[in-house]
Amino acid sequence: MRFCSKEARFGSSGRPVRIAIIGAGPSGFYAAGALLQQKDAHVAIDMFDRLPTPYGLVRYGVAPDHQKIKSVTRIYERTMKDGRVRYFGNIDLGTDITHDDLKAHYDQIVYAVGAQSDKKIDIPGEDLAGSFSATEFVAWYNGHPDFRQYEFDLSVESVAVIGVGNVAMDVTRILAKSVAELRSTDIADYALDELRDSKVRRIHIFARRGPVQVKFTNPEIKELGELEIADVIVNPSDLILDDASQAELEGDRTAQRNLETLRALAERGATGKPKQIIFHFLRSPTEIIGEEGCISAIMTEKNVLCPTETGYLSCRGTGVCRAFDVGLVFRSIGYRGVPIPGVPFHDRWGIIPNVKGRVTAEHGGAVVPGEYTVGWAKRGPTGVIGTNKPDAAETVTLMLEDIVERASARERSDAACAADSAMAGAPWARKPLPNGEQARPDAMVSLLQERGVEFVTFADWQILERIENERGAQRGQPRVKITDVEEMLRLIRAAKATPAPDPLKVTAD
Ligand code: NAP
Repeated sequence: MRFCSKEARFGSSGRPVRIAIIGAGPSGFYAAGALLQQKDAHVAIDMFDRLPTPYGLVRYGVAPDHQKIKSVTRIYERTMKDGRVRYFGNIDLGTDITHDDLKAHYDQIVYAVGAQSDKKIDIPGEDLAGSFSATEFVAWYNGHPDFRQYEFDLSVESVAVIGVGNVAMDVTRILAKSVAELRSTDIADYALDELRDSKVRRIHIFARRGPVQVKFTNPEIKELGELEIADVIVNPSDLILDDASQAELEGDRTAQRNLETLRALAERGATGKPKQIIFHFLRSPTEIIGEEGCISAIMTEKNVLCPTETGYLSCRGTGVCRAFDVGLVFRSIGYRGVPIPGVPFHDRWGIIPNVKGRVTAEHGGAVVPGEYTVGWAKRGPTGVIGTNKPDAAETVTLMLEDIVERASARERSDAACAADSAMAGAPWARKPLPNGEQARPDAMVSLLQERGVEFVTFADWQILERIENERGAQRGQPRVKITDVEEMLRLIRAAKATPAPDPLKVTAD
């Protein structure tokens, strides 16, 4: 690859490569971190988030009793404090700014928007009042502003959780924990109040396949076994494996550990604690049954496992059905993405179509110049927070390759470019780079101000964070979350308007 000047590599100090990252969750931060780490790179990164608060799923997805995992935000904070990065919170892409605005102001755009919705299970009764996705319950107890008004009828005795991934384990744990166990977390105040009055005594967990095929990881199932006021009930006969599961178990350390833990739990059985978490393996929900608008039961069918051509062990119904009395259902069968206006979307997979992070017009289609994706929006809702680091690094490598090509193309003479047919053919080289006014760092700020959009900077967020932490310290909690966007904005305004503010004295309505 030829370069017309050394400066052309990754921007220059006078004209850094301007990058917009949409979404300030883990994948967005790992993308920003990877860009900042590039030697000789001159980048200016603007991170946008729909909410005033950064950190995405770490704040609104990771369970409140998993504070250790949340401490990863210290790394993200370092990224945000780098002079080359700015934060624009409270910006809705599609409302406050458009896809065209982004294209006009940035050399490259990275979609780090995660997977904000849930998969459908497609059974009768799924949409009855009292049937919720785990996504909704998780966002509610974590104080997500969009879900704070949700109401879950915790006066029921029995609840069904469908699916056996880590999210199902989180939901179950929060339902099964005592108030004493939850009080020291950063669970939303209103959620703790509701859970304090909870009458839930039985949590039925339905796994459509067997104990070897569960998706949860071992620390999560062990944690269930250590709860103060809940027993875990596993039927020993459910742990007798068929030949295919036995073969699958060989060489899978996680599955082996999970099975050991499940066997220990089966052996222990009920110890007389007031709540019970009851596992049902090889059982698919077939209908959620309601009476007068309320859920009364869930119908399930016993399954057997059948190997497919690829070796995957699928489940098949046996026709043997059983109903369980439950008053509330949480469907925890996986997340899916939500389309962004102007950005390609693969409807079946619920992701932004891409090749290793380069956005494509459709699956297998042409690369969209200058647009990239990372995290769950790129690969689907799999993996833990750390999985996003190598994932983002893969995308960033391509971003750097592309910007070099584009910068060198721009600096070369037309003749040289014409002679280089390979370069001219690179589709991601064709997006014109913003220049003049729109490439200026203050151009986006001016645009938002002209539109009257009240954006939140990182310094503004730190005002909120200080208030949350100080309120938390007074109560022995990591933080007391502010869950209302209007209140967040009011507190920020008040703190900025007062020379020596005492934010703890600022009260909400
Ligand atoms: P997941 O791990 O993909 O689990 C989804 C579960 O739903 C599986 O048991 C799956 O069973 C089941 N399922 C799917 N479709 C179903 C259907 N139609 N009927 C019945 N069951 C169905 O998804 P997740 O729990 O939402 O987690 C998403 C990601 O976040 C995972 O990578 C997870 O590890 C991660 N996470 C990690 C933590 C942590 O580290 N503590 C916490 C939360 C989330 P099959 O296997 O049969 O498809």
